[in-house]
Amino acid sequence: MDCIFCKIAAGEIPCYKLAETDQALGFLDIMPIARGHVLVIPKRHIELFHDAEPACMGAIMELATELAAAIKKSVVCDGINMLLNAGRVAGQVVPHAHLHIIPRWKGDGIRWPWPQGTLEEESARDLVDCITGNMQ
Ligand code: AMP
Ligand code: ZN
Repeated sequence: MDCIFCKIAAGEIPCYKLAETDQALGFLDIMPIARGHVLVIPKRHIELFHDAEPACMGAIMELATELAAAIKKSVVCDGINMLLNAGRVAGQVVPHAHLHIIPRWKGDGIRWPWPQGTLEEESARDLVDCITGNMQ
């Protein structure tokens, strides 16, 4: 498969590797939003994180939390965004699931242009019914 992150996981394309487990790999993002911006990927190809097995998500989060603690110490940031973009319209450019770890500092000016909506009671009740119904 012609997937850049599969090639990185297989060692066919170089990366600034930070850590790995059987299932997951963490490396520096090549176009960082901030110093210390890291990606954590499953070694096996999966496109969308919400299609992943819980065990795969567990493996990603286990490595990601370890890395986040080390990144925080290393770049001395005030906070961290851990971000999953799933699907092109959600901002996913590389079609191999990846978790972003992005260090944040007070006043760093990084903003996602997310509008704040309102949650009306009728719509909230509909959504709770619909989402919980689809969980069975
Ligand atoms: P997304 O928009 O969530 O798909 O993010 C893809 C990320 O992958 C971007 O932040 C890119 O900078 C990063 N990226 C793309 N190619 C590479 C690469 N070869 N090595 C490291 N990071 C990469
Ligand atoms: Zn892949």
